[in-house]
Amino acid sequence: MDLNSLTISDLREKLTAGETTSVELTRAFLARIKATDERVNAFITVCETEALAAAAAADQRIAAGHAAALTGIPLAVKDIFNTLDVRTTCGSKILANYVSPYDATAITKLREQGAVIIGKLNMDEFAMGSSNENSAAGSVKNPWDLQRVPGGSSGGSAAAIAAGQALATLGTDTGGSIRQPASHCGVVGLKPTYGRVSRYGVIAYASSLDQVGPLARNVEDCATLLGVVAGYDPADSTSVDTPVPDYLANLKKGIKGKRIGLPQEYFIEGLDADVKSAVDAAIETYQSLGAEMVEVSLPHTDYAVACYYLIATAEASSNLARYDGVRFGVRKDNGEGLIGMYQQTRAAGFGAEVKRRIMLGTYALSSGYYDAYYLKAQKVRTLIRQDFLDAFEQVDLLLTPVAPTPAFKLGEKVDDPLQMYLSDIFTIPTNLAGTCALSLPCGTSSEGLPIGLQLIGKPFAEAEILQAAWAFENATGFGGQLAEL
Ligand code: GLN
Repeated sequence: MDLNSLTISDLREKLTAGETTSVELTRAFLARIKATDERVNAFITVCETEALAAAAAADQRIAAGHAAALTGIPLAVKDIFNTLDVRTTCGSKILANYVSPYDATAITKLREQGAVIIGKLNMDEFAMGSSNENSAAGSVKNPWDLQRVPGGSSGGSAAAIAAGQALATLGTDTGGSIRQPASHCGVVGLKPTYGRVSRYGVIAYASSLDQVGPLARNVEDCATLLGVVAGYDPADSTSVDTPVPDYLANLKKGIKGKRIGLPQEYFIEGLDADVKSAVDAAIETYQSLGAEMVEVSLPHTDYAVACYYLIATAEASSNLARYDGVRFGVRKDNGEGLIGMYQQTRAAGFGAEVKRRIMLGTYALSSGYYDAYYLKAQKVRTLIRQDFLDAFEQVDLLLTPVAPTPAFKLGEKVDDPLQMYLSDIFTIPTNLAGTCALSLPCGTSSEGLPIGLQLIGKPFAEAEILQAAWAFENATGFGGQLAEL
């Protein structure tokens, strides 16, 4: 089977028309994983037996005329989602072979709509990273250039799509972890508004920032997948009880007359020349489609990275306290008593970046420093959110680069955490503001690497940014290609 041009929408038609079966399709993706994943390393766990059983059940439902939105469609999910049937490692040694007693809500929703989950995708340990080099399962390689990173932390979720190993995936985004890898791998990725998708059963990194979202080959598939996972969940008290619109209803209506803001703080010196010219060309495309460009300012942008690394690490230090060798996963115990067991377990179970963040976060929360760091960061966060709300008084959406450069080389930034942290400079502010944003392909660099464009929407305006993204994709034909491997 040729996996090159498939999308969820075509496949639904082919499956209903009996031109293919879910079992055949699932086997084709499993074969592609076998042929390519030694090089890409996008999967931590491939669940062949479970997937083939789900595919056979899907075929029966299709034959009986009971197909739902994703019946029989092979998908894969980041290894941060708890799944009942297969292990959930979160890219960490401390959760090696951990099996959850329940499914995350997003997984339940996928299963209810008939999706076939073919595996759990590689990621930076506990979603901390921008390159996927912080995984206990080893680095993921960018399918467009195996010497380069796929981005992180949902690197496996983006690379698997570009490598043709999965049609679409779920990731999570705390500071850019869906959008930055989507940009580096030439796929579409959407971070919904905080509260749009339930976080229940998603292993927590920084709870006030974490959000679940889809990655796919095209905008339409992203919209379909968002429609399946979005919605209020009583099990997540931060999920918001507001109706889920039909994301496909207005998708193709164009963007004539829309006002698009260009935040001046995002078009800075130091932006890679290829990124700049691809984004400039995208601005012209939008003008030719009838949108009006308006220069806007987000004046507190400079503080975003510092603010994020205080809040995210503070929350992480608290969330990760539960991995103590008693309740979850791995235990190391040399017989030196309870405290000794905690220390040995955590020393052996966590990787270097996770330890760095636990220490930074614990420091920011400690008595005497709390007001100066954590509390101050919370105040700055409010200012950053207000910047966005002010800008949205003038414009319908914002357009920016996703990352300052295309995918960098493996190993290039591992010894310089600050440089690594700066690769999220354009994605972090939207997490702090809690609003929605997506990344879509807008060109390639002189070295043939994908470049992404970011569209940022008002809170709960996912339908609007998808509509704007579709208009661009339809006009330019960018994206959707698979890397040759
Ligand atoms: N790269 C950022 C970090 O390391 C964002 C990660 C994410 O969104 N999960 O925290």
